[in-house]
Amino acid sequence: MPINGSTQAMSGEPVAANPLSVKPPVIRAGGRSKAPQPGPKSHAAAPTFPFSAIVGQDEMRRALLIAAVDPSVGGVLVFGDRGTGKSTAIRGLAALLPAMEAVVGCPYACDPGRPADHCERCREQAVLRSEKVAVPVVDLPLGATEDRVVGALDLERALTRGEKAFEPGLLARANRGFLYIDEVNLLDDHLVDLLLDVAASGVNTVEREGLSIRHPARFVLVGSGNPEEGELRPQLLDRFGLAVEVTTPTDLPTRIDVVRRRDAFERDPAGFCAAHAAADRAIRKTLADARARLPGLAVPDATLEAAARLCLALGTDGLRGELTLMRTARALAAYEGAETVSLDHLARIAPSALRHRLRRNPLDESGSTARVARAVEDVLAR
Ligand SMILES: [Zn+2]
Repeated sequence: MPINGSTQAMSGEPVAANPLSVKPPVIRAGGRSKAPQPGPKSHAAAPTFPFSAIVGQDEMRRALLIAAVDPSVGGVLVFGDRGTGKSTAIRGLAALLPAMEAVVGCPYACDPGRPADHCERCREQAVLRSEKVAVPVVDLPLGATEDRVVGALDLERALTRGEKAFEPGLLARANRGFLYIDEVNLLDDHLVDLLLDVAASGVNTVEREGLSIRHPARFVLVGSGNPEEGELRPQLLDRFGLAVEVTTPTDLPTRIDVVRRRDAFERDPAGFCAAHAAADRAIRKTLADARARLPGLAVPDATLEAAARLCLALGTDGLRGELTLMRTARALAAYEGAETVSLDHLARIAPSALRHRLRRNPLDESGSTARVARAVEDVLAR
């Protein structure tokens, strides 16, 4: 047994012999699963601030929960100040999701129970072993090259040895999890475009010089940004499912509570997590129930009609607004255990689903939020 067991993880898989290559993106089990690999201590073992212990930021937490119930609502865009716990919230949410069954050694963590979604490598194997792994949260750094993001095809190896050599990128690692981009508004437009394409299709296709490889890449894209530091083009804004605002709390008791919890967590992470474990478990159960309920939850005609009238009143382009409104309202209803998708669900989710689709001043947060609120009042006559 080699000392570094991880180098064996992809035996049999052609990997580009690139000296700069990162180690094979096998997604290790997180804190909840046993970690059989010896060697360097994994950051996965570091405790995560419990999702249930986050104070305030209700809109952001709700948007992330909705995306966890139904990833097809599209990504979540989080606008707001630094240090408002955006990354903490995503990590906390991913940590409380149930560990996933994944094919051992698959760089994409294919789901053994869904052969239709399998990568080429898993399709070719007669026997697939399975393991539990944590839901991945992958950070996309601003300076990342396209190769690092989508993966790299080794053309030289392909031409000289006739082998298709692919080094999976960050999108491979993000499959079935979350892809987080801090300051997405500073990322190259074409990269954002590409990420949104992959997120929408669930497939990453890499093509170079007539060679092509496809692999599953289903993930929830979460982008954060400070609107004062660069704008996203309206065409890109519109492609995110939800847009939420986070702000530093301005009332004294909340601020004190935030600081107190953060301090308590840092002084005794294990104790703090234990104190919130039951609350986290309750959210996990609610999420699982919501996912199970979602397929059977119909949207009544009256709700659909109201969604359409809302989008007409606001003059949103295309039908994406209505589709997102319907899906998010349905996911919210599922999360709340409702029997039907009501106008109330629609009204509550409308600001997150529509504020970034308005034509004028899409980044004028207060303005667009107020406009959506007004349209909700008018159209839904509440
Ligand atoms: Zn696979």
